[in-house]
Amino acid sequence: MNYKIQHIPFSEGKRPGIKINPKYITIHSTANEKSSAQNERDWLVNPSNNRIASWHIAVDEKEIIEAIPLDEIAYHAGDKRGNNLSIGIEICESGNREKTLKNAAILVSDILYRKGWDIDRMRRHFDWSGKNCPRIFNYNNWEGWTKFKKDVSLELSKMNASTWAKTPWDWGVKEGIIDGKRPKDFATREEVITIIYRFKNKIENIKNNKL
Ligand SMILES: [Zn+2]
Repeated sequence: MNYKIQHIPFSEGKRPGIKINPKYITIHSTANEKSSAQNERDWLVNPSNNRIASWHIAVDEKEIIEAIPLDEIAYHAGDKRGNNLSIGIEICESGNREKTLKNAAILVSDILYRKGWDIDRMRRHFDWSGKNCPRIFNYNNWEGWTKFKKDVSLELSKMNASTWAKTPWDWGVKEGIIDGKRPKDFATREEVITIIYRFKNKIENIKNNKL
């Protein structure tokens, strides 16, 4: 899926450039059934938009747009702590909902994986300020939120090596023999031979006392 970086210019109320060290991911939905990720991004820089409100990443049925670097503050949580401590993700309500939620689950699991976090780092906007957001998950006492966390957990499990394979996997990554991605995915013939080739080079380097 397409991950676009379209950082907005520095501005008060949207992107002041204050550095943060996020500990959570806060999930929102846009509360606009017509607005795409690109529409949301364009709205941030629309001259008539005077609200103190912004977000880091928006995701829709076809793409992901990062509008503010993840180590800078954005104003999305309606709460000082939420803004200071979390990455804000807007899930679009436009287009194909199933595709959008799949993209969102992959996006969130990818951030969790890269940060070394688990799904206990996920927050709703609701958790910070009590706002009914992400409203798309608020049915049957937030059943949609429970389901979404499960979907993220499933995507995350595909990214982590199984317990039994963890020692060789971590060794392979540390030695530069494998890239550390997609542990549960199939390997192509060219990937297999590349792994063998890297291992051969490593052995030859050891033999030649280069290491
Ligand atoms: Zn929200």
